[in-house]
Amino acid sequence: MSKTTDELFKNVIAHAKEYGFVFPSSEIYDGLSAVYDYGQFGAELKNNIKTYWWKSMVQMNQNIVGIDSAIFMHPKIWEASGHVGGFNDPMIDNKDSKKRYRADQLLEDKIARYDTDGKTDKAELLQKDLDEALKADDLTRLRDLIIEHEIACPVSGTRNWTDVRQFNLMFSTQMGAVADDADVIYLRPETAQGIFVNFLNVQKSGRMKIPFGIAQIGKAFRNEVIARQFIIRMREFEQMEMQFFVRPGTEMEWYKHWKEARLKWHLALGTDQAKYRYHDHTKLAHYANAAVDIEYQFPFGFKEVEGIHSRTDFDLSQHQKFSGKKMQYFDPEINQNYVPYVIETSIGLDRMFLLTLINAYEEEDLSTAEKQDSRTVLRLHPCLAPVKAAIFPLTKKDGLPEKAREIMESLQLDFILQYEEKDAIGKRYRRQDAIGTPFCITVDHQTLEDNTVTLRHRDTMAQERVPADQLDKIIGDLVSWKNLLKA
Ligand code: ATP
Repeated sequence: MSKTTDELFKNVIAHAKEYGFVFPSSEIYDGLSAVYDYGQFGAELKNNIKTYWWKSMVQMNQNIVGIDSAIFMHPKIWEASGHVGGFNDPMIDNKDSKKRYRADQLLEDKIARYDTDGKTDKAELLQKDLDEALKADDLTRLRDLIIEHEIACPVSGTRNWTDVRQFNLMFSTQMGAVADDADVIYLRPETAQGIFVNFLNVQKSGRMKIPFGIAQIGKAFRNEVIARQFIIRMREFEQMEMQFFVRPGTEMEWYKHWKEARLKWHLALGTDQAKYRYHDHTKLAHYANAAVDIEYQFPFGFKEVEGIHSRTDFDLSQHQKFSGKKMQYFDPEINQNYVPYVIETSIGLDRMFLLTLINAYEEEDLSTAEKQDSRTVLRLHPCLAPVKAAIFPLTKKDGLPEKAREIMESLQLDFILQYEEKDAIGKRYRRQDAIGTPFCITVDHQTLEDNTVTLRHRDTMAQERVPADQLDKIIGDLVSWKNLLKA
């Protein structure tokens, strides 16, 4: 990581804390590793990202419905899904620092370093070796690669490594008063299983016809071996998942559809297309017949934000087997019963949040020949901005605060607003720039005469005089979901 991108990332993290977006969890107790809280503006931004996703999935598709299933589920579900037996990460310990790492991640970091140093041949070769070792579940080979590529522990600096071992990522807890094995349940490591086990409930109660989808947003929990890169890898996080049930044999056409549709969803936000890439899986899970990640170029390299997987009939068939209940659909068009195939789209809300923040963050130099000046601005898409407009009386007297509050009351039913009367206008603008507020409305003496206000635009900093009674239309047009969803 070059110094500038490293610094930029640090600044984004500091900014997120200073301006109420993301706080470390339990901070007054020195924090809890890989757990974070969203602050007042973070919660708004997160909600807006959820709304964008939910609208694009559920509201814009007549054949997709949304559910909200419980986090606790019958423990057999995780046996059926393969998580009890196979939801493992390969880990390795450094004997000197006693620190634990994911073996595949140490190797991926090395690949990224080869790339940054221009050693693309080495990067490609190691990627190939890594893919092969993972595909074969060859833990010895993973360790050998770490040794061959002279990877040292970032803490101790030594290459004194243990063997690579598998580590299950599910958190378990107990349900009920009596603590015996039968009561062990898991915190779900993905939201998808809540969709699979409700497949027939939704299909029957909603009279859904294949192809159709079930969407869900919710918390997931993984005891990640190592947690790092801020909210990229958390132990408690949120997923937005959609399972699309299709007739067997048509899955590739739907896989292609969702692969394209999901990237389009990302790009509609105005993010630089060059920062996105598809990463096709070479190592397919045993149940998948195609899988791709949508990756984004974070300051520390490309990272998966979303996965699109063609999961065949694996999950429904497993639940059929483990529960003894039929998970079939009768297709009236071909007069046949079958277990549907599934295309899954799974996006990490927290990773999307970080992507959005990093993409929006800019330290802008506004210096002129006369004076040095700068601002930190979050160029968030107006639909995602936590606060849509801020209202400032120019001064605290002459009835300006009253007028400003009157305007605020006329708008607050439709938009999240902030009222500020402290400090000079310039300072108030800067505070709003820092949280990404697209509009600032200033009420001055002229407002009392002709009911016009100054409307200041975040990105251009341009100001215009507009009638106060047109504000709802002007703001409404800019923050309308139509801007994101109409295409
Ligand atoms: P990775 O390889 O980075 O661990 P994954 O392949 O295990 O991710 P999936 O199981 O496909 O991830 O989960 C779908 C999405 O959930 C990911 O694309 C990612 O955005 C998000 N996600 C997964 N694990 C975490 C985590 N620990 N913290 C935050 N988001 C996560």
